[in-house]
Amino acid sequence: MSGVITYSPAYTLVPTYECFNRCDYCNFRVEPGKAPWITLSTAEKILKELQNQNVCEILILSGEIHPHSSRRESWLQLIYGLCELAIALGFLPHTNVGPLSFVEMQQLKTVNVSMGLMLEQLTPALLNTVHRHAPSKIPELRLQQLVWAGELQIPFTTGLLLGIGETQDDWWETLEVIAQLHTRYGHIQEVILQPYSPGNQQTWNAAGFKPQQLPEVIAKARELLPAEITIQIPPNLVSDPNWLLACIKAGARDLGGIGPKDEVNPDYPHLSDADLLQILKSAGWQLIPRLPIYPQYDRWLSEPLYKAVQSWRNR
Ligand code: SF4
Repeated sequence: MSGVITYSPAYTLVPTYECFNRCDYCNFRVEPGKAPWITLSTAEKILKELQNQNVCEILILSGEIHPHSSRRESWLQLIYGLCELAIALGFLPHTNVGPLSFVEMQQLKTVNVSMGLMLEQLTPALLNTVHRHAPSKIPELRLQQLVWAGELQIPFTTGLLLGIGETQDDWWETLEVIAQLHTRYGHIQEVILQPYSPGNQQTWNAAGFKPQQLPEVIAKARELLPAEITIQIPPNLVSDPNWLLACIKAGARDLGGIGPKDEVNPDYPHLSDADLLQILKSAGWQLIPRLPIYPQYDRWLSEPLYKAVQSWRNR
């Protein structure tokens, strides 16, 4: 065997699909006020069915309620409640719900083993194109999240969305900034390199990012990022096994959360972990599950979360 590739056995809970942003490439959002919010009792039913199925991570992924909306507080409380519920039922939550205030992040740190937010791209040029109706995609706002996550010692996942109108130099600039922030705070556990992949709901008419380009981006990212940051690729968006293996050869070492549905890219189902294992095995790689927090960050957790994580590590 030449090495190990990891993935996180995960299930995604969506508090709501409504989102006040309108990114041109979105295949997730529903107009504000037009999507019901999940209830804690529905979530409890779903989570109880997942017990004893080897699912560890509950990814809480939500559309965004405007920071000044009168419904913002109840949205945050719902997210908090879902995380508490997941912990009580033996899972480990990871929340990714768009930009948060410092206080909101501070609250969610107490019920999450890690959190995430894609930087996507730092170039402001996209505010005139695919992000022109997406105030949450202002680059400074997203950078601020990474700084606060560092100050709060939250193990963090971020990443780039590739092929939404940026240049190659924009990729390297975004990666360099992630590397600098990690050097300052030591909190970035993984960077996702996500190829934009068109879906059925989006308004934007543009071809997807070519998977053939991905190994080159991965190789350069591996040079730019500190060695302890893992590079993650979503295997459902690199569906040709040859290109998947080429990405791994170039330096990707993690396949992210694998679950029944990719909520952000619903047109691209995941292969099962058994199928992925076969593809990787054919090239001499092992596929092993991991937790949504890397071991070097366990010491940043509160006592109850630390204990929950250790009970998973000792299984
Ligand atoms: S991509 Fe995210 S932020 Fe943009 S509209 Fe869709 S759900 Fe909202």
